Amino acid sequence: MNLTILGSQGALPKLNKYSSSHLLEVCNKYILIDCCEGVQFQLKRNKIKYSKIELILITHAHGDHFFGLIGLITTLSLLKRDKVLKVFCPVPVLKIIQAHIKYAKLKLSYEIKFYGLKSVHSEIIYENKNYFIRTIPLKHSIYTNGFLIKEKLKKRKLLLDKAIENKINKIYFNKLTKGFNVINDDGIEINYLDVTVMGEKSKSFAYCSDTAYTESIIGLIKEVDLLYCESTFLEKHRDKAIITCHSTAKDAGTLALNAKAKKLIIGHFSSRYDNLDQFLSETKEIFKNVILSEEGKKIDI
Ligand SMILES: [Zn+2]
Ligand SMILES: [Zn+2]
Repeated sequence: MNLTILGSQGALPKLNKYSSSHLLEVCNKYILIDCCEGVQFQLKRNKIKYSKIELILITHAHGDHFFGLIGLITTLSLLKRDKVLKVFCPVPVLKIIQAHIKYAKLKLSYEIKFYGLKSVHSEIIYENKNYFIRTIPLKHSIYTNGFLIKEKLKKRKLLLDKAIENKINKIYFNKLTKGFNVINDDGIEINYLDVTVMGEKSKSFAYCSDTAYTESIIGLIKEVDLLYCESTFLEKHRDKAIITCHSTAKDAGTLALNAKAKKLIIGHFSSRYDNLDQFLSETKEIFKNVILSEEGKKIDI
């Protein structure tokens, strides 16, 4: 699992910067989380294959998180995409995009499956054999969901030499990697622990933007491997953070600390700040393992 930052900024345009947009690679497929204006340029710049985007997740109806969606939908059609695209977004975003498609009489080359989100409770919105996606209800000025993407428990790894040595028929190999004992060719029970080792650890990523600090989500993001938390303001502008329902650098650090996150990345910076070093130092007062969001940065999870 890895994350590429396509946009690190808040709502106001800034030269050479982009608003929120993130690309998560899971099992060789892409999930696009939020879709900033001009997202296609960032995808191109980062050499991302459009065709590998399977899902798009939109947190909320503020423009800095979805103004790029209709552009990307159109581009994918011009490129003759034929695979279904799944889009999970709040109902108002769904209505805006569908209205645009209708009134522009767009004839898309592919099918879009929209999933309108409206629940204020956390829910699993997508699941396949490798991972699931759960919403994280956030505390913002309008209806907003963060997303937790978590890999499922990975299979154990078969030690082929040992399996052959123990005279196990290959039809049982899969069963062993799932943690079951099997009977070998001599009728003897073989313990899966003797012929397999632990597989790779399952990884998780939580995306929390936009939001004011809230304790209510800590249970959902407990011990996450990488936490993205918005950090629009520095402490000196806490009054603005409160009015606009955003987080400060310290809020992000507190969330990571309380959730026992392994690593934190902060972003969605207000355009009023040119030097971001202070974001890092203010967060580090509370949570040490933090990095700054920056266009083009790639993080292995
Ligand atoms: Zn925003
Ligand atoms: Zn917002």
